[in-house]
Amino acid sequence: MKDFIVSARKYRPQTFDDVVGQRALTDTLKRAITSHKLASAYLFCGPRGVGKTTCARIFAKAINCLSPHEDGEACNACESCVSFNEQRSMNIQELNAAANNSVDDVRVIIEQVRIPPQLGKYKVIILDEVHMLSPSAANALLKTLEEPPSYVIFILATTEKQKILPTILSRCQIFDFNRMEIEDIIGNLKMVAEKEGITYEENALNLIAQKADGGMRDALSIFDQVTNFSGGNITHESVLKSLNFLDYDYYFQMTEILLEHRVSAALMLFNDIVNKGFDGGVFMGGLASHLRNLLVSRDEETVSLLDVAANLRTRYAEQAKQCPLKFLYYAIARCDRCSNEYKNAYNKRLAVEITLIETAQFDEEDPGAGARPQKTLKPLFRDTNVKAATSMPKSAAQSALVSPAAKPEATVAAHPGPSAQQAAEPAVPAVSKKSDSAPIPKVTKIPKINLNPSTLAKTVPSEDKTPEPASEAASPALQMPSVLGEVPFGEKELLYYWQQFALLLDKEDHVASMRLQGLELKLKENEKIEVAVFNEMLRNLIRPYVPRIEAYLQQQLNNHKIRVEIKLVEISVEQLKRYDPKEQFEEMMSRNEALSRLQKDLNLQVEL
Ligand SMILES: [Zn+2]
Repeated sequence: MKDFIVSARKYRPQTFDDVVGQRALTDTLKRAITSHKLASAYLFCGPRGVGKTTCARIFAKAINCLSPHEDGEACNACESCVSFNEQRSMNIQELNAAANNSVDDVRVIIEQVRIPPQLGKYKVIILDEVHMLSPSAANALLKTLEEPPSYVIFILATTEKQKILPTILSRCQIFDFNRMEIEDIIGNLKMVAEKEGITYEENALNLIAQKADGGMRDALSIFDQVTNFSGGNITHESVLKSLNFLDYDYYFQMTEILLEHRVSAALMLFNDIVNKGFDGGVFMGGLASHLRNLLVSRDEETVSLLDVAANLRTRYAEQAKQCPLKFLYYAIARCDRCSNEYKNAYNKRLAVEITLIETAQFDEEDPGAGARPQKTLKPLFRDTNVKAATSMPKSAAQSALVSPAAKPEATVAAHPGPSAQQAAEPAVPAVSKKSDSAPIPKVTKIPKINLNPSTLAKTVPSEDKTPEPASEAASPALQMPSVLGEVPFGEKELLYYWQQFALLLDKEDHVASMRLQGLELKLKENEKIEVAVFNEMLRNLIRPYVPRIEAYLQQQLNNHKIRVEIKLVEISVEQLKRYDPKEQFEEMMSRNEALSRLQKDLNLQVEL
């Protein structure tokens, strides 16, 4: 293929009618031109690669055309149009704010439009990625937007409308560009393929359109890539290979397996996918989208939300008929949660496997029953907690809690036999922050403790893996996972398990453990836990632990809705004085890294 020009450039639309998938919007622009009602500034918003800049250029050409068509399109033949098409028109200035975002950049461009146009009526300034302008540059622009010369029209383009100053928004006529639909993209790819003499399979173009995710420019560049790879014959197979794209057949197959409760088959299919070099997180995200497509295909009202090629629609409709609604809700929620937690998962593969196991065990009659662990085990942390507490420095131990493990009956934990179910009832959390002599509060709502191997793997320090009978059940990958409920809980239980987590963390990271223990928690609506921190450093120290804390609390309190949010609050010197010496020292440490290092190296403690 000699003289190769990228398709996105070669087939860039030259008229409004060529623009794909934005008909309503191009019609409005044409009407504005024919009725001579032009605004002095426009804002084009929308995702990348959907034709914002292209439309801006067509618009600039059309309003300068010397003999425009009746419908508002440029003639593409007059002197002005030709100069536009050859990219030598003086009536258009383009600035990409992502690369040139200073005041000077904006001033230069404003200077350039001082002189009225020699040919045509308007000078058009296109400012791409306008949300990237520096604040002072945005202000300089604002002044010109307020009183532009009569022959100047600004077209601002952005992918992030919410980042545009309201003062700028209010001076622009706003156009929202749509993400392109798969069918529109496929149609355009077919047009290009036919003009280029490239043969293709319909399914292959569908894959390209999916991968492009609503952007025509991306679709065309993927198209070029695949054309090169496949030597001008775009087959389904060649697209899969060159894009490292997971075939939707896998998703159809996996859904079928999950519906038939075939756990082993699900794991084997996932193994197959992993062996082909695909990332588990990508697979989870893809499976979630697939299930979502099934969900919207079930209902006539939502079927318009199904954005896939025509030949896939029937396949979706058929599989959707076999999926109970409850199954879809459940499975989508599971997959979505796994995708969210995937990045921070300790054992990524296991995280996906657990999700598949849980979903395969879904029982419509009793949602969640299939996935409940066959036996509930005595929590391991009791043992680790004893060790942690005894090996803890004085101050940490002081603020630690009365451990339930300290009770004599905790010895049962080491021998979970048939009575494990009974023994698993958690001891009443004893919450006491400063002194261990406080009375043990009676908690009526006893949180159910479930064992989840993934949580355990994260929370039990690795060097602590003595071969206890209880850990045997927790280690194998195929251990029955638990389904988390929505059990209500109070601040006392929350504080209790928060401190437990901090204690478990102590072996791994003493500083973080101490800091966690000293934090103020607030239980907000919807199981949101607000954690107040007083400085950035402390926030950065704690932030990496948030996913683990969430997983741990969700597990221990049997509530999947729990979310932890760190809130940065200002604290004055006055407020700081009200703290006790230990807290003051900790606060100072968090403000001064050197001090914190010193504390760590010399193991300094504050005596109270
Ligand atoms: Zn013309």
